[in-house]
Amino acid sequence: MSGFAGASPVPFLDLPAMNERLHAEVDQAWKDVLHHGRFVGGPEVDRFEEEFAAYCGTSSSIGVANGTDALELVLSGLGIGRGDEVIVPGNTFVATAEAVCAAGARPRFVDVLPGTLLIDPAAVAAAVTERTAAVMAVHLYGQMVDVAALEEVTRRHGLALLEDAAQAHGARYAGRRAGSVGVAAGFSFYPGKNLGAFGDGGAVTTSDPELARRIRSLANHGRSADRHRHDLRGRNSRLDTLQAAVLSAKLGLLDTDNAHRVRMSARYRSELPDHCRPLSVDPRAEAVHHLAVVQVSDRGRLTAALDRARVGWGVHYPIPCHRQPAFADCAPGSLPVTEAAADRILSLPMSATMTGEQVSLVCDVLRSAAP
Ligand SMILES: *Cc1c(COP(=O)(O)O)cnc(C)c1O
Repeated sequence: MSGFAGASPVPFLDLPAMNERLHAEVDQAWKDVLHHGRFVGGPEVDRFEEEFAAYCGTSSSIGVANGTDALELVLSGLGIGRGDEVIVPGNTFVATAEAVCAAGARPRFVDVLPGTLLIDPAAVAAAVTERTAAVMAVHLYGQMVDVAALEEVTRRHGLALLEDAAQAHGARYAGRRAGSVGVAAGFSFYPGKNLGAFGDGGAVTTSDPELARRIRSLANHGRSADRHRHDLRGRNSRLDTLQAAVLSAKLGLLDTDNAHRVRMSARYRSELPDHCRPLSVDPRAEAVHHLAVVQVSDRGRLTAALDRARVGWGVHYPIPCHRQPAFADCAPGSLPVTEAAADRILSLPMSATMTGEQVSLVCDVLRSAAP
């Protein structure tokens, strides 16, 4: 991974440039918070939760401390824990499996589709056992999973369909937003995500009012409506008021930013040399291109050329989740598509403020490093 912040002609992600656009608005919002002094659960949190639920098309959203907690709270809120298995893709960030373990359940890793590198519905169907409680579908890289096929599998087996939407704020599948297709979803607002805070943050979305009430309580010490009565054994995982103010300001830019990512992705697709193959996009999906991932056969030579040109790049992820030492006790047999992809994937610069000329420059550098 190579960031080249500052003087790079094409940084991997230019957070200062993205945030500078909100300077005045955030400045005012933070002054308001300093003035009213409610730093946890203030009016900014209520406002953001309402706006984000409306944006995702759900009846509720609950602000929490980070995306990993959001996923864990979804599972705990549904009563999924000890003795249960949750099916997760091998190709994901470790947080997906961490959340399953933190809830007390066991991740059951399955393979992904070769074109999109997203969870394979047939592999899900083959992995169901009598212990399976849910499927955690990860909308990785900004593209939603094959929702139609997963809905069919989960309905047939009586499983909960859950979403890890940490990389897919605003993505759609057949017109439905990420965060609204499953029983509940977890979002991350880590600074580099399509909707990012100035620190950690996360949210759960759901249209089940009883589940929303339970998750809100679990995230706030198990409190009931009477704040001194604790019906559940909960924890502290709340969204800070200052972060909620940032997120409300940024939510107003999300569709514009995502549309820009779509244009940059199209330009990559038309200018990339043949030895860099972009991932396929399901025609039913409207991806928001959190990452611009290509598959290559000689990654070392290409990353050396990008380094020489001072162009940022990354690999998401070089060690598949099911091969991480931390999950050795839940390792499946081999997941051939995930494992082959780990050696071939390369993430190119992508952000809401990069220019078409920068995309062309990256493509020129990659072309000059042809095999
Ligand atoms: C970022 C991310 C998470 C975790 O979010 P945090 O806010 O960092 O806890 C979970 N799943 C995926 C796929 C992610 O990219």
